[in-house]
Amino acid sequence: MTRTIIAGVSVYDGTGTPAYDADVEIRDDIIASIRPAASHPPTDSIDGRGLVLAPGFIDAHTHDDFAVIAAPAMTAKVTQGVTTVVVGNCGISGGMNVTAHGDLPDPLVLLGAADAFRYDDFAAYAQAVDRAGPATNVVALVGHTALRARHMDALDRDATGAERMAMRADLTTALDAGAFGFSTGLAYANANAASTEEVMTLAEALRDTNALYCTHLRSEAGEIVAALDEAFAIGRHAAAPVVVSHLKCAGAPQYGRSGEILAMLETAAL
Ligand SMILES: [Zn+2]
Repeated sequence: MTRTIIAGVSVYDGTGTPAYDADVEIRDDIIASIRPAASHPPTDSIDGRGLVLAPGFIDAHTHDDFAVIAAPAMTAKVTQGVTTVVVGNCGISGGMNVTAHGDLPDPLVLLGAADAFRYDDFAAYAQAVDRAGPATNVVALVGHTALRARHMDALDRDATGAERMAMRADLTTALDAGAFGFSTGLAYANANAASTEEVMTLAEALRDTNALYCTHLRSEAGEIVAALDEAFAIGRHAAAPVVVSHLKCAGAPQYGRSGEILAMLETAAL
């Protein structure tokens, strides 16, 4: 058995209660006790005075799809206290091959070079992540633009019925293999031609799964109200929780609108 005590550390326990000074005992990687800080640190303890101890942070918006495989030490994250990363945001995900119809489309290029997208399906990607053994937990979303690139020969149009069915089937298979949800980036050129109905059809895979619908909105500027309404409608259609990624009121004409936009999030009955 290994035993470690972090003494006199300021504990933020994640419940929202104010920080308190404590001696935290860890046995075999599990917190065994949290006691009020002793006036004299126990011998063989780590001196935590002046330091903060908290549960690991969740980085809810990353594009670390391949970083978790290529750089599994995840130094950039763990040194900031992050122990869980959510990947596959903004409609772009690395969990499956997307180059069947040509070059890697924008913005999938942000994740890596074409040869990084080498996994036949999400299960193969998940296995690669497991093999790499990253220092962080990995919560993976499946990207809409990735599915479009996988199943469509042109991305400047709405998907046909057959293409929608193929994409939805891929998403269902990925959810069964451990994906946590579905992301879109409708602002980007290679997803912008997708109709709301196309996205709704795919999002139907989320029903009865507790999986998330995460959206980089179709507009973060003048059309932001319509874009939020679209996201809410997709979430309602799929009976899925909606996550709005990096909410913005972009451009000078939107200055001062954050109250209006945040109120829409508060009152959305999903
Ligand atoms: Zn985004």
